[in-house]
Amino acid sequence: MKVALITGITGQDGAYLAQLLLGKGYQVHGLVRRSASADVIGTRLKWLGIENDVQLHDGNLTDLSSLIRIIDTVKPDELYNLGAQSFVKSSWQQPLLTGQVTGISVTNVLEALRIVSPKTRFYQASTSEMFGLIQAERQSEKTPFYPRSPYGVAKLYGHWMTVNYRESFNLHASSGILFNHESPLRGIEFVTRKITHSVARIKLGLQDKLALGNMDATRDWGHARDYVEAMWLMLQQETPDDYVIATGRTVSVRSFCKLAFEAVGLKMEDHVYIDPQFFRPAEVEVLLGDPSKAKAKLGWEARTTLEQLVVEMIEADMKRAKDGVTL
Ligand code: NDP
Ligand code: GDP
Repeated sequence: MKVALITGITGQDGAYLAQLLLGKGYQVHGLVRRSASADVIGTRLKWLGIENDVQLHDGNLTDLSSLIRIIDTVKPDELYNLGAQSFVKSSWQQPLLTGQVTGISVTNVLEALRIVSPKTRFYQASTSEMFGLIQAERQSEKTPFYPRSPYGVAKLYGHWMTVNYRESFNLHASSGILFNHESPLRGIEFVTRKITHSVARIKLGLQDKLALGNMDATRDWGHARDYVEAMWLMLQQETPDDYVIATGRTVSVRSFCKLAFEAVGLKMEDHVYIDPQFFRPAEVEVLLGDPSKAKAKLGWEARTTLEQLVVEMIEADMKRAKDGVTL
């Protein structure tokens, strides 16, 4: 039986990845940071019905000794480093913490592996935010980076450390440059989930208005369930490498919002207004990925269309709103 350790297992991707690996017969472990609100730990794992199938370990990405201890105990064949301060907007409010958790901590994990488990295969959750102010119309593994937020800068550090440890110490370390991916388990602060959550509540008469920021930004949005499969595929390759994971289609926030309102028979114009507080100090206006390397080498392609994604997210949010459940 293969053993996997996931940092960030309580997040969107961690939950879907745990589900995928359990389905493949893995023993799945997760690193979980201590919270005073113990009741909220594992909400996403519970939503997927797998909270009792994974083994959780108390630790923190910023605490090297906890990482060493957990890795030494678990002895994972594969380690997926998904933990991060992952919200771009917050990275301007907490730039130093973002640097520590999203950036430097990648080196903590790499160091822990180098010290106690150098044969473990390593996946780093890199991001299209590293392209920021885009230097090519379609961004591929060869496109130069130009991050536009403390989050993007921190992730770029983590990406290059992953490449460096692969080249310096021969670790089986791969970096997945994933474009935005969403799902019913997406954090409520991200724009897609904010929209579907509000649309469901507006439809049910629980709220009337939705405030948004820059609706002209465009993103290449896929489904998290498809994307975690790409993570796994990367670690099954004989040679570690870096891959762009994307759909190859970019859509504006406005169009996403329109689709969501139309899905429940409402008009966006009747409910949405612009609130400057949701604009950012520096914006990533357009992201559009070129996933051809992933298709050629991993045989991976996005399966879920944006339209299917919107419907799935709205249905989940309608159910939650009706049941009075929050996630
Ligand atoms: P989430 O924000 O949903 O999950 C982040 C996870 O990191 C949570 O489990 C969180 O724990 C954990 N975490 C945060 N700080 C620490 C810490 N100090 N020690 C240990 N764990 C910590 O992110 P996603 O699942 O959406 O994304 C997964 C990864 O992929 C992230 O690294 C993200 O930056 C990256 N990524 C995501 C993309 C996307 O579109 N979703 C696109 C490209 C990259 P807790 O539950 O306690 O908060
Ligand atoms: P990001 O791509 O990781 O920053 O993901 P987000 O979902 O947070 O933001 C995607 C895009 O939506 C960005 O260009 C935001 O500026 C834009 N956006 C517009 N209004 C909002 C809003 O109210 N909340 C968020 N989170 N983003 C918004």
